[in-house]
Amino acid sequence: MQHARCTIDNQVWEAERFAALPEPELENMRRNLVCAECGEFAWFRRASRHGRPPHFCAHHLNTCGLRVEYVAVGEQRDDATIQEEELNAGDSIIVHLDQELGGQIDVAEIQRPPTPGVGTGGRTFVVPGGERETAQHFTMRRILLRLVQSPAFRNSNRQVVLYRNATEVLVAGAVRDVVAGFIDITPERHANRQMLYWGPIASAGMTADGKLWLNSSDRHQGVSVAIFPEIVDEFLQMFGVNDLEELTGAHVLVAGTCYYAATGKPVIWCGSSRYIVVRRYRDARLQADV
Ligand SMILES: [Zn+2]
Repeated sequence: MQHARCTIDNQVWEAERFAALPEPELENMRRNLVCAECGEFAWFRRASRHGRPPHFCAHHLNTCGLRVEYVAVGEQRDDATIQEEELNAGDSIIVHLDQELGGQIDVAEIQRPPTPGVGTGGRTFVVPGGERETAQHFTMRRILLRLVQSPAFRNSNRQVVLYRNATEVLVAGAVRDVVAGFIDITPERHANRQMLYWGPIASAGMTADGKLWLNSSDRHQGVSVAIFPEIVDEFLQMFGVNDLEELTGAHVLVAGTCYYAATGKPVIWCGSSRYIVVRRYRDARLQADV
């Protein structure tokens, strides 16, 4: 769409005009965008190298007049149905994070909170081979889909168990206890705690030290997911990301520890590409993800 409201200045911005903003201001304002009509989370995408002009998108309310149909990138149309059936079966949701993968790098977690940087967007990558989704990513993706679609699921007693390997449990408990939306993170309940966190991405950027930052909106407490330099390329390859702009608007689910940075903002450390899944969206009217 061509317009979105920024909640910092409460102005409705036109996309070309927004794209011309100087960098620090643009980065700040793009984390504070809502649909001008329904007020739901909106995001900005810069001009793509395929020639698509800068534009806004939003996860509109069903009743919104600006609503367009989005399809999730890389998902089959019947995924939602399968998901529904499996989760209604009443069993615990079990994810074996070490299945079917070799050569993965686990990065040891540091004890010191990382310092978020502004980062630079727009970097492009060559992704060889395209997407190669694994069994555990498929399960993680379905958990994320359910979280996005169902407030009842977010508050449910459904048991989730994530195994780090054959014997070691990474996260276990009821969804309402071990899964937190970015918007619900509090120092009391989540600081230094390893569990599942999820929310929308408003911008993505690399810092000079090679970390990839997935930044949520200020309405979602400005939560960032920090991805270690050692696994950045693998992460991008796994989810078929050629340009960091493609991550804007995506939902992310990550198993990681929440640290509070000196800025007071929560940062979720992601030290393994097995512990994270993103659900990207594109306009259903477009043939390709541009
Ligand atoms: Zn809307």
